[in-house]
Amino acid sequence: MTVTILALLLLVSFLLVAVVGIRLIQKKTREQSGNRLERCAICRRPFDPSAMIMREVGDYRLLWFCRECVKKLAEDLSGGHGEE
Ligand SMILES: [Zn+2]
Repeated sequence: MTVTILALLLLVSFLLVAVVGIRLIQKKTREQSGNRLERCAICRRPFDPSAMIMREVGDYRLLWFCRECVKKLAEDLSGGHGEE
């Protein structure tokens, strides 16, 4: 009788460890994909992709631009003679 109870306890603890392990792995992968950062093609600083513009160059190359650099480019384009 005690042996079966011990075996059951062992089985339950194994299951618990397995479930917790799977959950941890899932959480880890989700965090990794959620916190993925892209580097700006101009200033090379990492940003959250949701705050950036992505452009395809050629067939496969993806370039990311941060808000600041896009703003600066627009200013350079419309401003003409910059104040350097
Ligand atoms: Zn930038």
